[in-house]
Amino acid sequence: MITKAYSLNIDQAFTKLDSNQLGLNETEANKRLAIYGPNELPETKTASLWLLILKQFRSWLVIVLILAAIISWQAGEMIDTWVILAVIVVNAAIGFFHELRAEKAIASLRKMIVKVAKVIRGGHLLTVPTSQLVPGDVIVLEEGDSIPADARVFHSNNLRVVEAALTGESLPVSKSTEPFPENTPLIDQENMAFKGTFVVGGYGKALVTDTGIHTAIGDISQSLGEIKTSRSNFMKKTDILARQMAIIAVVSAVTLLLVGYFIRDFEIREILLVSIAALVAAIPEGLPAVISIVLAIGANRMAKKKAIIREFTATETLGSVTAILTDKTGTLTQNSLTVRKVYTPGKPDLMVTGEGWFPAGNFHRQERIIDSETDAQLQQLLKVAALSNNSEITHNHKTDTHELVGDPTEGALLVLAKKGGMRPEKFRQFKLDDLPFDSKDKLRATLVDEGNNPELYVVGAPEVVLSRSESILMPEGEQPITEDEIEEIQAKIAEWSDSAMRVIALAHRQQNTKKIDPDQINQLVFLGLVGMLDPPRPDAREAVHKCKEAGIRVIMVTGDHINTAVAIAKSTGIIEEKNQDAVKALTEQQLLNLDEDEFDDAINNISVFARLTPRMKLRIAGRLQAMGHLIAMTGDGVNDAPALKQADVGVSMGIMGTDVARDSSDVVLSDDNFATIVNAVEEGRIVFTNSRQTSFFLVTTNIAESVTLVLAIALGLPLPLLATQILWLNLVTDGVTDMALATEPGHGKIMQSTPLKRNENILNRSVLPFLVINVVIMAGLSLATFYYYLDEGVEIARTGVFSIMAFTQLFNVFNLRSIDRSIFAIGMFSNRYINLAVGLSVILLIMVTEVPGLASIFHFQSLRILDFIILFALSSSVLWVGEFYKFIKKWSTK
Ligand code: ADP
Ligand code: MG
Repeated sequence: MITKAYSLNIDQAFTKLDSNQLGLNETEANKRLAIYGPNELPETKTASLWLLILKQFRSWLVIVLILAAIISWQAGEMIDTWVILAVIVVNAAIGFFHELRAEKAIASLRKMIVKVAKVIRGGHLLTVPTSQLVPGDVIVLEEGDSIPADARVFHSNNLRVVEAALTGESLPVSKSTEPFPENTPLIDQENMAFKGTFVVGGYGKALVTDTGIHTAIGDISQSLGEIKTSRSNFMKKTDILARQMAIIAVVSAVTLLLVGYFIRDFEIREILLVSIAALVAAIPEGLPAVISIVLAIGANRMAKKKAIIREFTATETLGSVTAILTDKTGTLTQNSLTVRKVYTPGKPDLMVTGEGWFPAGNFHRQERIIDSETDAQLQQLLKVAALSNNSEITHNHKTDTHELVGDPTEGALLVLAKKGGMRPEKFRQFKLDDLPFDSKDKLRATLVDEGNNPELYVVGAPEVVLSRSESILMPEGEQPITEDEIEEIQAKIAEWSDSAMRVIALAHRQQNTKKIDPDQINQLVFLGLVGMLDPPRPDAREAVHKCKEAGIRVIMVTGDHINTAVAIAKSTGIIEEKNQDAVKALTEQQLLNLDEDEFDDAINNISVFARLTPRMKLRIAGRLQAMGHLIAMTGDGVNDAPALKQADVGVSMGIMGTDVARDSSDVVLSDDNFATIVNAVEEGRIVFTNSRQTSFFLVTTNIAESVTLVLAIALGLPLPLLATQILWLNLVTDGVTDMALATEPGHGKIMQSTPLKRNENILNRSVLPFLVINVVIMAGLSLATFYYYLDEGVEIARTGVFSIMAFTQLFNVFNLRSIDRSIFAIGMFSNRYINLAVGLSVILLIMVTEVPGLASIFHFQSLRILDFIILFALSSSVLWVGEFYKFIKKWSTK
C-alpha cells in the first residue's frame, strides 16, 4: 500500500525495499520484524457479538417461557413473572457465554495450524511461519499456496491467482512482472500478489512489500472474523427435540387448563398457575448450552489427538461417518519416498542405496557399484530428475538432519540426482519456464536453455510419459521407440508397481519456443524409469482394522498406479487376501466405461480406485452420499477443494497439504496420519453419545414433571410443584449436573458397533423404554409422597415432591453416564466432575429448602431429617431399576 510497488520496475522495487533476489539475511529479517511487527491480522469479532446475543432468544423454548411469563403476569403472580423473566435473561447469558467460549476455543485451535511461507533468505529456500515475514523478504509462490503478504511479483511462470477474497472475482488472474502506471486500481495491479488470495497454478517469486495490517486485506479485515453459523446434523436434531418439548409444554398446559376449568372447577387464578407450571415444566432450559459444551470438550479432545477442528459441527458429524475416502500417499504411507531402482533402456536395473532425504548413496548394477558419471544415459536421466523439480533439500544444522521443502516425489528425485553427483544449483539460471505437477495431467515439465537450444524436461506418471514418447534413448543413442520396447517398459512398470513402488518416468526433447505449452508435451525421448518406495505407516493397518470393526468402509482414492495402490491396500488391510479372484481395484479409465448401475455397484464393492483425477473423486463421493453414506474425505491439492467441501467431513493435511485444501476442510490432521482420522471418529462417537445422554437426562426430568402435574390435577389434587420450584429443578439441580455429564469419557466398545444413523433422533426407540421406566418411577414416587404429606399442608407436601424429584435426578445422573453399561462396570465415582456436581447439588437442595429466607421465597417448608433420608433412599430406586434394565437389555441382545 505504502510502497506502491506496482508502479516501480523490479530493480527500483528491490532498491526501495533494500533487498535483492537472494533475499534478506536472518539478522536483517529479525531487525525488520522488530520494526514492522508480526505479519498478522487483528481478530475482529464485534459485528457478530450482537448476532450471537440475538441467537440466544431465537428458540422455541424461549417463546414458551415468554408465554409463561405473560400468563403469570396476568395471574398477578409478580414474583413468578420476575423469576421467569430473569430465567430467560440468565439463560441467554449462559448460552451466549458458552457459545463465545466455544468460538474462542475453535479460534485457538485454528491457531494451532501454523501457516508457513516459502521464503528465500540468504540465497536459501526456507519455510518460515507466515507471521515472521517482513517487507523485503523474497517469497516463492506455487500451486495451492495462500499468499502470505502483499508482494511485488518479479518472476512469473504462468502464475495464476484467485483473488476472490479481495475482489469477489472467482476467475484466476494471471500475474505479470512489468510495472503499471501510478493510480492503477488494486484489481488491475497484475504484478502484485495480495495476502489472503491463493495460487491456483504456475510458479512465481515475489518481493514482500507490506505485511500484517498494512496489506490490502488488512484494510478490510473487519469482514474476516465472521463466525460461521452452519447447523450440524445434531443441532438440527436438538432443534427437533426442542420443538417436541415445546409441543408437549403447550399441549399439557392446554389440557390442564381445560380439565381444571371444566371438570375440576378450579378458580381461574389457580388454573393459570397450573398452566404456567406446565409450560415451565416441559422446557429443558439448559439444553442449548450443554450441547455447545459437549461439542467444545469433544473438539479439545480431538485436538489432543492431532485432529484439529476448523468447523465446530464436524466434531459431532465425525461420529456418524460411514465411509472414509482416503489418499494413499502420505496418509496411509509415510511420505518419505526413497528411490530404490532406476531403469535405463537396454540395461539391467540399477539399485540405489541410502535412506530418506540424506543425499548420499551408491548405484549398484548386478552387485557392483558403478560410477554414475560415466554412464551417459543415467546422466541424462539424472539431469531431468534434478531440473524438472521444484523441491529443495536443506540441511538443518541444529538437528543435523536433512529436510525437504516441497513435494516428496520431487524430493526423492532430487536426492537421487544428488547421489549421482548432479549439482542442480549450477543449472538453475538456465531455466526458462516451469509447469508444476498437476494431478489431472499427472506430469510436470521444465524448459532449460544452456545456450545451444532450449530443452524440455518431463517427469510424470509412466503411462502418461510413455504415451507421449516417440523415441527412446538406448546405450547406442536415440532411436524411434518400438512395440517391443514399449512392452518391456510396461512389464517393468507393472513389476515395480506390484512391489508397492511408485514409478515415475523421465523424458526430454529439443524445443524451439521459450514457453511450455501444456498441450504440446509430446514427441518425447523416453529416458527411463525410477521406482521409489514409500512404506505404509506403522499404525495404518490397525486403524483400517478398527474402521472395519466399527462398520466404516475405508476406500482408497489415489492418483497413483493401480498396482502400487493394490500393494499398499494389501499391506494396510484395505484389501483382504482371502478373496483371491475378485476384482480388487479399478482405474478412472475403467470407471468411465461403466454405466450408472455398474458404477454404483463398483463403488459399493470395490475399495481401491487408482489413477483418479480430482473430478472422479468428487463423483465417487457424490454417489456414495446419494446412497446414504456419510463420508469423510481427505484431500491435499487445489483441485481437491471442491471434494473437501462436498464431503460431510473434509479432512486436510497439516504438514503436506496446500493452504487452499486446509481452508476448504473441516478438520486438519496435524500429523497427516490416517490413524488420526480414525481416532477423531472415535471421539466424534463419544461426542454424540454424550450429547444424547445429557439431552436424555434433561428431558427425563421435564417429562416426569409434566406427567406428575397432569396426573395430580387429573386426580383432583392441588398443584404438586410451583413454577418457581420447577425452574429451580430444571436450572439449578439439572444445570450443575448436566455440565458434569458432558465431561464423561467414552465407555466400552465405541468402535465395535455400527455407525450412528444419520437420521436417528435423540429420543429413539432404543432409549424410549428407559425413559418410560424413569418417568414412571419419578412421577409415581412424587405423587405418593405428595399424597402422603398432604394432610400436613400443601407446602410441606410440595417440599417432599421437590426432594423426590431432585434426588431421583441425581441418581439418574449415574444411570446416564452410559446408556448401556452398568455404573459398577464404569466405576460409581470414577468421574470427579460428577462427584463434585452431585455434592454441590445436594448442598443447594438443602439450602433452598432449609435456609429460612430462601425457603419462604420458594414456598418450602422444612422436612424432618429422617423423612429426608427416607426420600433419598426411595429415590435410589431409579438407579437399581436402571441397572436391572441395562442387565436385561444386555442379556437379551446376547
Ligand atoms: P497420489 O498422491 O494419490 O499418489 P497423485 O495424483 O499425486 O497421486 O500422483 C499421480 C501420479 O503422478 C503418481 O503415481 C506419479 O507417477 C506421478 N507424480 C506424482 N507427483 C509427481 C511429481 N511431483 N512430479 C512428477 N510426477 C508425479
Ligand atoms: Mg500426490
